[in-house]
Amino acid sequence: MKILINGGGIAGLTCAIALQKLGIETVVFESTPEIKPVGAGLVIQSNAIRALEYLGIEDKIIDAANPINQIAIIDEKGNVIKKQKPSSINRELFAGLAIHRHTLHQILKNYLPENLLFTSKKAISFLNKDGKVILQFEDGSNAEGDFLISADGINSNIRLQLLPDSKPRYAGYICWRSIVDNSDLKISEATETWGSKGRFGIVPINENKIYWYATINSNQFDVKINHYNLKKLKEHFSDYRSPVPEILEKSSNEKLIKNPIFDIKPLNQFAFNKVLLIGDAAHATTPNLGQGACQAIEDVMVLHQEIASGKDVQSAFKSFEKRRIKKANYIINTSRKLGSIAQIENKFLASLRNVVFKLTPEFITEHQFKKIYN
Ligand SMILES: Cc1cc2nc3c(=O)[nH]c(=O)nc-3n(C[C@H](O)[C@H](O)[C@H](O)COP(=O)(O)OP(=O)(O)OC[C@H]3O[C@@H](n4cnc5c(N)ncnc54)[C@H](O)[C@@H]3O)c2cc1C
Repeated sequence: MKILINGGGIAGLTCAIALQKLGIETVVFESTPEIKPVGAGLVIQSNAIRALEYLGIEDKIIDAANPINQIAIIDEKGNVIKKQKPSSINRELFAGLAIHRHTLHQILKNYLPENLLFTSKKAISFLNKDGKVILQFEDGSNAEGDFLISADGINSNIRLQLLPDSKPRYAGYICWRSIVDNSDLKISEATETWGSKGRFGIVPINENKIYWYATINSNQFDVKINHYNLKKLKEHFSDYRSPVPEILEKSSNEKLIKNPIFDIKPLNQFAFNKVLLIGDAAHATTPNLGQGACQAIEDVMVLHQEIASGKDVQSAFKSFEKRRIKKANYIINTSRKLGSIAQIENKFLASLRNVVFKLTPEFITEHQFKKIYN
């Protein structure tokens, strides 16, 4: 039996590791010439850490990451709105692990034999023929397998072939990200500042580096904000609390990454006979809960469990869908709502929101966290 995986991102690589552990012949096809993740840092939260533990691949990731013990939400003047402490998330050691994306991809890739990964292979479609799945590539070649796992991200060609209406939807804001040196700043706390001009997140990813991200509301086709460079971002956030201006001062245009934020409307199907959607291909979410990659890792754990239980792969795909769809869709919906609340620009409504967040009793927050982290 051979399973084709389309996409060599976090979902595809983790899935290949899991299938290897099950002794299943696997091949990964990646459209880019090199596995080179776009993006700066990433926070892996406790649900995904436990999934990595289940798969037996957590050690190297924990060693390479910076444990985040709490994330504070702060207003633009520096007043704390809410602190997410590890004890209120779970009883384990970390609230989350902050890691450079490149490091994570490298660690995952190193678990796999080299001859399993094919780069510069952009899949454009698939077809079912004589009980097999044929994956067709842009270069005219194709690959044959017994099953296909589509892990090709938010713009998945496979998902769009199966569900043409599942095009990504814009969330209403743009995100800029980068990594800067932390040796002078010495920032040790992860924070997200909520202000009327947008959000600014700061996450230490190791002793010397911090990952920052900024989100600003914008019409999808607004040329002005879409073309913001560092100079414009510095002006935009000039009155935000320290160290926001200092961090932007240390950043460079060359290392600035811009992403208009999209998700997909929750799907009601992930399994399509011999084809399964996982990761962002199945449930791309806005990054407000920091759960996109975590959900992809959770997917892989559940798929491993279902196949390991002895089911045939097609039934395992269906059981996977049954177990994953509700939670993955809850994350999409909750994250999108949180994004609209966190991006409020009106000063009065923003103050009201901050008071409500501050006064929300711990047990309510705890209940919501449990739904995400369990
Ligand atoms: C600003 C921002 C911040 C985020 N922060 C976090 C965070 O802190 N924590 C978290 O858990 N998540 C976070 N996420 C979400 C996370 O990045 C994604 O959920 C995660 O990368 C999904 O992994 P994936 O492997 O499913 O998809 P992707 O990472 O998109 O990987 C898909 C892979 O498939 C390849 N591919 C695409 N099309 C084809 C094709 N046709 N043929 C072959 N290969 C193809 C791509 O090149 C890519 O390598 C964030 C997202 C954004 C935008």
